[in-house]
Amino acid sequence: MRDLKKHLREHINRDAAELLYSNSFAGILITLFASSWLVFGFYNAPTAKLKLSLWSIVIIIIVVRMVDSFRWHLNRKKTYDYDGQKAIYRFVSGTLITALWWASYCLFVLPSTDTIELASMIIVVAAMAGGGASILAAHKITSMLYSFILLIPFSVGLVVSNQPYQHILGVLGLAFGLVMVFTARKSALFTHQAILLKNENSILVNQMELQVAQRTQKIYELSNLDPLTGLYNRTAFLSQLSTKIKDCEELQQLLVVIFIDLNGFKKINDTLGHDVGDQVLCQTASRLKNMQKDADILCRWGGDEFLYASAVQTSAQAISLAEALIASVSLAYEFDSNRLTLGATAGLAMYPEHEKSEKGLIQLADTAMYFQKNLDPGKAGMFSQSLGQKLYREQKLHNGLADAIEKNQLRLVYQPIVYANSHQVHLYEALLRWEFEGQAVAPLEFIKIAEQYGQIRLIGSWVLQQASLEAARWQQENDDSPAVSVNVSVIQLQDDEFIDIVAGALNTSGLHANKLHIEITESVFASDKNRLIRQIKILQSTGIKVSIDDFGTEYSSLSVMQDLAVNTVKIDRSFVEKLETSGFAIIKAVVQIANTLGYSVVAEGVETKEQANLLFNLGVDSLQGYYFAKPIEQRDLALSKQQSTTVEATQQ
Ligand code: C2E
Ligand code: CA
Ligand code: CA
Repeated sequence: MRDLKKHLREHINRDAAELLYSNSFAGILITLFASSWLVFGFYNAPTAKLKLSLWSIVIIIIVVRMVDSFRWHLNRKKTYDYDGQKAIYRFVSGTLITALWWASYCLFVLPSTDTIELASMIIVVAAMAGGGASILAAHKITSMLYSFILLIPFSVGLVVSNQPYQHILGVLGLAFGLVMVFTARKSALFTHQAILLKNENSILVNQMELQVAQRTQKIYELSNLDPLTGLYNRTAFLSQLSTKIKDCEELQQLLVVIFIDLNGFKKINDTLGHDVGDQVLCQTASRLKNMQKDADILCRWGGDEFLYASAVQTSAQAISLAEALIASVSLAYEFDSNRLTLGATAGLAMYPEHEKSEKGLIQLADTAMYFQKNLDPGKAGMFSQSLGQKLYREQKLHNGLADAIEKNQLRLVYQPIVYANSHQVHLYEALLRWEFEGQAVAPLEFIKIAEQYGQIRLIGSWVLQQASLEAARWQQENDDSPAVSVNVSVIQLQDDEFIDIVAGALNTSGLHANKLHIEITESVFASDKNRLIRQIKILQSTGIKVSIDDFGTEYSSLSVMQDLAVNTVKIDRSFVEKLETSGFAIIKAVVQIANTLGYSVVAEGVETKEQANLLFNLGVDSLQGYYFAKPIEQRDLALSKQQSTTVEATQQ
């Protein structure tokens, strides 16, 4: 506020100086002509010398004022930002000295004037006082003093003169002088008001402009910067990248877009809280910023993902840049009492080799990162055409899966599981098949995709329903019918609604719970074990049996076996394959432990009679594999059920 007043004062002073000086030459010239005319126009011997001396003085005053005016005009051309107050003081001094000169002149010359000279003098000072009232209106005191000095002493001189006719002139002069002083005051007040208003307005406009500028900056920040890290956001990065691509096109340069994703950030957020998570992101941002070179662009793409773009000479240089970025992010993070290390994985895409559009480059860098993360996290991976083809296929399958159920492209086949001693079928494993664009897609391929994109929930429910319906048909035919075993993904099992989905499948089909088995892969036990144990218990409490699939391929299985009260362990095909070598001892151990814990054992992938016999001798309860039957189409099931007894008969 204080500043504002000072600012206003300065502007008013400068405007006043401007007004005063803008008329200065005219005023000075009038003084020159008027004084010269009075001095030389009326010759009078006794006062001739005095007049000449007075004229010399006024000439000096005029010269000084001229020089001052010139100087002011020159300075004014250079800058508007000068001290108005000082300029006013200089001008006012010149003007008042001139006025004093006039007063002295009139008083000195008065005693020896004749009527005409006196009339001329009166006309001159009256005219000058009149002109001064408007020319000096920019400075109230000066304007009033000017009229006063010009008219009052002279009028008093007239009143006290020994010429009676002059008395009246003197009285008139006094009256006129007073009127002029008031007129000067009025006009000065008016001018001051006008200058004040003008300046208040312009300051207001300036303030508004400032506010608009501040708001514009705020809007820029809101729409271009990420509020947490202060790095560019997506919008800003995309527009900067598009400019950078154009530059590289002109300069025929290569450009790399690096997609950086933190490893294990989610865990930090989940275990240490979002505040620590935010701090990690801010520190990551500032580390990347420290690595940033002038022309490079950097942004937080979202969550724990950052993008970095830089012009490079070769793709090898691009890889080393990405590795340096990973290294800087991978240094330990220190917090109050925490010391954390988390790595990062980077994916790279090159302009113009891989893509020319900004969005395309980011997408490919993201793809490269995604593959790198699955393959070997913590490193940098460059996009390649084969990655592109993989992604293309993945996307195609992902899209295809979305309406695979509606389009009747999915079906189940059933592979028998037989008792090892009697070779009698007591269970069928339901295996999913997908016919897409006239070709069968391998279950291992599409199930992984369905899991990645969350589509497995819907598909898994469909499998449960179909398998239950089919097994319910077997149940209707024969009370002692085989059960059905359904593969269930960990994603399904973690779902809160899973238990209801299973119950729903049993209800609608009418299948008894003890005719349903569920196979879960051993890898599920790497996730929240307690929760899974609870889910398994609930399922088992209804009579459903639970198997661990692909046993032996993943984590420390034997200890897991103890924790999980499953019903069956399915030994992975890879051990059966190596039955003649290392597989034998492993299977033997598994059977022993399973026996003590009360689990039954199934061996998968039995392809020969020898394997079947060996496994039986080892104490394996049930067998599954091509030796008995390949997975069977639903329509062929009835026939095969009859035949399986025949096959089994020939075996014995
Ligand atoms: P899995 O559960 O281990 O299923 C057994 C796989 O081994 C089946 O392959 C089966 O055809 C094959 N197989 C059976 N006997 C033999 C044999 O003697 N020799 C050889 N070499 N292979 C044999 P498939 O049908 O291709 O299924 C592959 C995997 O896909 C399954 O492995 C399972 O993990 C998954 N899968 C299949 N259907 C479903 C499903 O409905 N839901 C879920 N979540 N996964 C499924
Ligand atoms: Ca299975
Ligand atoms: Ca298996």
